[in-house]
Amino acid sequence: GFSRRGVRGNFVPPIRSNGSSTGNVTSRIAGKGEDAIDDSTKRCLELLCGPDGELPEKLRNLEPRLIEHVSNEIMDRDPNVRWDDIAGLEHAKKCVTEMVIWPLLRPDIFKGCRSPGRGLLLFGPPGTGKTMIGKAIAGEAKATFFYISASSLTSKWIGEGEKLVRALFGVASCRQPAVIFVDEIDSLLSQRKSEGEHESSRRLKTQFLIEMEGFDSGNEQILLIGATNRPQELDEAARRRLTKRLYIPLPTSEARAWIIKNLLEKDGLFNLSNEDTNTICKLTEGYSGSDMKNLVKDASMGPLREALKQGIEITKLKKEDMRPVNLQDFEKALQEVRPSVSLNELGTYEKWNEQFGSLS
Ligand code: ADP
Repeated sequence: GFSRRGVRGNFVPPIRSNGSSTGNVTSRIAGKGEDAIDDSTKRCLELLCGPDGELPEKLRNLEPRLIEHVSNEIMDRDPNVRWDDIAGLEHAKKCVTEMVIWPLLRPDIFKGCRSPGRGLLLFGPPGTGKTMIGKAIAGEAKATFFYISASSLTSKWIGEGEKLVRALFGVASCRQPAVIFVDEIDSLLSQRKSEGEHESSRRLKTQFLIEMEGFDSGNEQILLIGATNRPQELDEAARRRLTKRLYIPLPTSEARAWIIKNLLEKDGLFNLSNEDTNTICKLTEGYSGSDMKNLVKDASMGPLREALKQGIEITKLKKEDMRPVNLQDFEKALQEVRPSVSLNELGTYEKWNEQFGSLS
């Protein structure tokens, strides 16, 4: 048309600035009656503009500062985790590759009967690699990764959670293929309602389900991954939308050995015999991946503490003079770093897995 109208219907003069879309974006926003848009917000909106220099339809009714927050804080440009960084979990990796990565790489093949579910649930004890898997998926599928902790929606974004959710899904749909990782998804989609539940959190939940429904039915290349260590709190509606549900258990003995070796080797500190490694693995039954990482961290301080105890000053300490990490360092660290998951918690996961988990 000859003239354009702003989002609220106010007249926007059809001025195009040559080469840059700044004028356009600013006028859009100015049309929303928010004149205090700073440069960083402007730059962020420009990046989301299409080839025509226009902000995509979906983003036009959203608040610029929320779009900026999503782009800067929630969107992760470089998730930087590869499959090879994740110890064990072969079964989960295989499922995820077929179910999620191939469809994101080849949408042309995975349609119709082969169209994938758009919701994946990763459940299991904390610190077992659920977030790592999410990041690796984004990396392997060359997708944009969005990370949000659901509890921040209810705590930090009180009253604004709904708007932020809309901004999140809006930006994701402009950045396809996209992976949206929702940590602690139980706090968003839990079945505890009625008395305790506030009106606002009910609305937030509804908004979230609507957004999911939206991309589930469309042709969008968006995958939602929910992670939880309280799967039993999810209600039926949540389970229905998270069609694939994978149990991410504690690391096996082999996986624990791999974590120890991998972390120490990165720093050139690995010099344990197979026998010592086996001993450590026996002593770390029930440790999560994240417990193992803390254990290795603590053990790796051993040689340093020892050198300092001998009276060497930290400023004079030569790296070459420090010995590699040994079994005794681990034995000491084991007294400091205890497993964070209890045995009876594991029973709960296994039961839920039998009832609702996906086998393949
Ligand atoms: P969560 O399951 O709670 O999402 P994370 O993926 O955030 O756990 O893992 C926390 C940290 O623990 C990781 O950054 C990594 O260092 C370590 N870790 C956990 N699981 C594994 C694993 N399977 N392989 C390698 N490291 C792991």
